[in-house]
This record gives sequence, structure tokens and C-alpha cells, in this order.
Amino acid sequence: MWTSQASMTGVEDNDATAPQPAIKTCKGPAGTIRIYSFEVEPCGKMSFEDVMRLGQQRGFFFKAAETYPNSPAGFWDYGPLGVSMRNKLVELWRRMLVKRDGMVELDGAQILPRQVFEASGHLSGFTDPFVKCANCGSVFRPDKLVEEKTGEQIPEKLTDGEYDRLMAEKGVKCPKCGSKLSGTKRFNMMFRVGIGEQDEEGFLRPETCQSIFVDSPLMFKTQRIKLPVAFAQVGKSFRNEIAPRQGLLRLRELNQAEVEVFFNPGKLEDHRFQTQLGTRLNFSFPDGSEKTVTAGEAVESGALPNVLTGHYLSLLVQFYEAAGLEPSNLRLRALSEKDRAFYAVAAYDLEAKTSLGWTELVACNYRGDYDMSRHQQVSGSDFRVDDGGEKVLPHIFEMSMGVDRTVYAIIESSTVAESDRRVLRVRPYLAPQQVGVFPLVNKEGQPEKALSIQRSLLSSFDSFYDGGGSIGRRYARADEVGVPCCLTVDYDTAKDDTVTLRERDSKAQTRVKVGDLEAKLRGLLSFPTIPST
Ligand SMILES: [Zn+2]
Repeated sequence: MWTSQASMTGVEDNDATAPQPAIKTCKGPAGTIRIYSFEVEPCGKMSFEDVMRLGQQRGFFFKAAETYPNSPAGFWDYGPLGVSMRNKLVELWRRMLVKRDGMVELDGAQILPRQVFEASGHLSGFTDPFVKCANCGSVFRPDKLVEEKTGEQIPEKLTDGEYDRLMAEKGVKCPKCGSKLSGTKRFNMMFRVGIGEQDEEGFLRPETCQSIFVDSPLMFKTQRIKLPVAFAQVGKSFRNEIAPRQGLLRLRELNQAEVEVFFNPGKLEDHRFQTQLGTRLNFSFPDGSEKTVTAGEAVESGALPNVLTGHYLSLLVQFYEAAGLEPSNLRLRALSEKDRAFYAVAAYDLEAKTSLGWTELVACNYRGDYDMSRHQQVSGSDFRVDDGGEKVLPHIFEMSMGVDRTVYAIIESSTVAESDRRVLRVRPYLAPQQVGVFPLVNKEGQPEKALSIQRSLLSSFDSFYDGGGSIGRRYARADEVGVPCCLTVDYDTAKDDTVTLRERDSKAQTRVKVGDLEAKLRGLLSFPTIPST
């Protein structure tokens, strides 16, 4: 199945025109390569282009409607391997955050009426700045143009006048034709849709959390829950970006996994908020300073506003570490007052170090009671919650994860170059295909035996059969898409009903009884046991 996927994209293995990653030999000292540990420093680092090309060649993702030449940018389809890996990542998120914390999950509609976005502020404020070329009509973001021209990072929240001044100062012209550009204008990034025959105005949601806010009175009424409680949602959001150019990192249709913690700021003595405060967090502050402290120390020093944020950021960082990102490549960037949304009491971007620099994966915002008070005001409904006899408008702490960006970061950071191949050393429980079953030769009943073993494993593991090419070539193909375990049926299988189990990271080969495979593989491939909070 690998080859058919590769040829579907029109990109072959040996695409000589494609840029090649820098491949260096990378061998750890004998004995230090433990299975699924990451002790070997990745070398021959993957670039953004390498990851996007490998992802398309191997069926992780494709440009949507690629067959049609003028399909718009910013839309990507997940192929079989991408779907499998994304599902496992979401399952890990459910285990490490949703289930572990007793969160309540819901799944809201993607199209919502205008009033929801009047209340949320998106109708008036969810805009991107743009400038237009007077000659060729091309449209650009002024901040990106200045960044490209000067190499300087431009703050996200400048006024239109500030952009205009900056553009004039740096002498920015249309990069396509060199003509003069218009002054900065604003474009609302929500996709508008017409509902029903009356063409009633609705919008594709630009973030999943609005369903949570709007549904919350019903949730408190129908579920036996009380403050503090976290709601979680996985789903699609839609943002009509002006010029999406960064593959999975900037999409017009994106996957989010959001957590919204509802709480009474006057009552934070819940025992569970104390349990994870020993977790170490890397902070980066607006003044440029950096500090690694425990969550508890961050609360004490005022770097975090309260124990609740310390607790949830700890769970979040633990999730990313379990997903295989190195702690040293993760940081919480505290946003300055100028950079955060006007209603946010505090805001942190969880960022991962990638080949493109520090990349935001999760936006974490302490939103105060902004959402509840706005929806209460616009809808006229009561959004207060009974908290031990006291009616309170809940405060909200949000952790909004970009699933697609996280998939990207995992693929980039876990791909290492070995002497003759690239190996996707993704955690085994996130591997899109977990077990490959091969016949050593395509005769003497070995293919039939291998197929019957593969089928018997299908209900427990993502397994596949591969009988094409030399056994070494099959291992290399499996390594490249992160298959943690390969089983080979050989001449001895017919005699003693054993197969060779070959592990991706250690390259160790052991004989295993066919009858013991299920238990053996379960031990190697299961999700980690999550400590309770
Ligand atoms: Zn132009």
C-alpha cells in the first residue's frame, strides 16, 4: 500500500528534482539506544519542506483537491497514515487531559448564527490586516511583507496606521510587480454561509469553544457537575486566512482540541490543583528573559495567576512530553499586555522549537468572565452558575490546541536520519501503522501464513502486510513511516510456529511464538499508564 500512495501524489521515492535533506550518519554509543527512548540526538534535522514532502509522499496528508490546478491554499486532506496518527494523538489527549481530570466532552455544530459572534466579538474584531497592489491586484499581509523585507519580527497587533508607517519607512512595494500598495485595510476572517432558503446569515465557527460557552447553561442543568469543571471539545474550525502558506501550520480549515475550565476565582482550594505543581515548566517572558521553574514556584512568583492555571499547564506539558516532544524543546511564552486579547487576564502560548523557530501549538488564555458576561448580555439568558448557594459568573481558563500543528511538530521532531534512511521515531502508541507482517520469501506457504497472522492482529493493532522487495527494503519502508514492530515469517515458522520480531529503534530481533504475539505486542504498543491526579 505504500507504493500506491506514493504514486497517487505523483511524487516518486527518487524524485531527483526535490531538495534532499542533509543526511549525516548518526550512531549512539553502544548500549545507549534504548527502545523508544530519545537518547540519540536527532541529526540530519528535517526542514519544513522535508516534512511536508515526506508527509505527502507517504500518505500522511495531501493538498485538498490537488487534481484541480486552481484549488485554494490552506486546505489539506489527511491520508490514511495521517488519520491514524491524528486519531491516536487525540486519544492520548483524551487520556492525559480529558479523562484524567474528569472533564466533560461535547461536540458542537460547526455553523452558528450571527448572534453568537456578535457576543463573542468575532464579528467586529476577528480581522486580518491586508494591503492590495494597485497594479496587479495581489493581496498581502503588511506584517508579513515587512518581515520578509527586513527579517525583523513584527508584533501581531499593530494598528492600521502603524502598519502604514512601517511599510513607508521600509519602502515596501508589491513583491510580484514592484508597484505601489494600498493603505492597510481589514478583512473579517470568518466564512459566511447562507442558512436555508431565506439565506439567513450564519458563520462557520472560527474556534470550537463558542459552542462550549453557549451550551454551558444546559450542561450545568443536565449534567451533575459543579464548579470548577473543564469542558473539552475536538473539532474543526474555519479561518479565512488572507495568504496561508505554511502547510499544516496555517490552515483555513483546521482541527482543534480545546479545553475550557470554568471556575469561581474566589474558590481555588480544590485538592487536585495541588497534585501536579512539581511539574517543571520553561517560561519565556516579554522582557526576553527565560526561566525554568516548577508550576508551584511559578504561581508563588506571580508568573502564573493561580494554582488552577499551574495545574492545567502542567497537565498540558505532560501530555506533550508523552507525545514525544522533548521538554527542552517546549516553552510557555507569556504574552505581554499589548500582545494578548483585550479581555485576557493572562495569556501563554505553548510553543515547540521546530525548523521554523518557536512555533505556537496551544494558545492558553485566562479569559476572566468575558465570555459568560457577553453571552449573558447578548442572549438575555442567565449564564450564572450556582456555586454552593452563591450565584457566580464563571471565569474561564482556556487551552486551545492546534491538532494539525501538533501532528506536524511530532513528525518533524521525531524523524531522525540514520546511515541510509530516515526513521520516524514516533512514540509506538502514536505510530500510524504499528505492526508490519512480512514473509521472508514469496513461496513455501510463507505469504499465506504472514497474511493469516496479520489478519489475526487487525482487531487489536493497526497492522499491514508487505511482501514486496527485499526484507531490508521492507524494514526501511516501515522505519520511514514509524512502524515500531515488524514480524517476519521464515523457514523456521513452519517448524516451531515462531516469527522474528524486529523493533524499530533498537533494531533488536527476537523469536516470538505466534501464540504469544498478542500479549508481547500489547506490552510494546499500549498507551502509557496515566498517574491519577
Ligand atoms: Zn503587484
